[in-house]
Amino acid sequence: MASTDPNCIFCKIIEGKIPSRKVYEDDEIFVFHDIAPWAPVHFMIVPKKHIPSMAQLTPDDAALMGRIMTLAPKLALDEGCRPYPDGGFRVVVNTGNEGGQEVHHLHVHVMGGPRPWLRG
Ligand code: AMP
Ligand code: ZN
Repeated sequence: MASTDPNCIFCKIIEGKIPSRKVYEDDEIFVFHDIAPWAPVHFMIVPKKHIPSMAQLTPDDAALMGRIMTLAPKLALDEGCRPYPDGGFRVVVNTGNEGGQEVHHLHVHVMGGPRPWLRG
């Protein structure tokens, strides 16, 4: 699989060709705020490599996905979510059309902050 897709909006964000509000970046992960947040805190963690969705994951991606999932609680606190258990956050990974996925570059939504939320 090619590591970037020239037609993918999230690949363009990762490459800096489309602006975003960046939260975090390392050699294999990029994190930015959702442009249409559902909650007071709403950012997305994405692999820099273009993986269309969770459906394409292979055992080779286990460490990468582990890093993404363990980054979520740290960044949630950094971005203003209150600590567990009174605070916390929600993680959502929409996958495929029936899964509600609109952008076909794997992304892990992290949402949190005081309720009520706009959605969810
Ligand atoms: P999904 O429905 O899970 O594919 O989520 C795609 C998300 O990407 C939506 O929540 C959008 O608001 C968000 N989104 C789309 N374009 C941008 C953008 N240019 N910058 C930040 N977030 C975006
Ligand atoms: Zn992409």
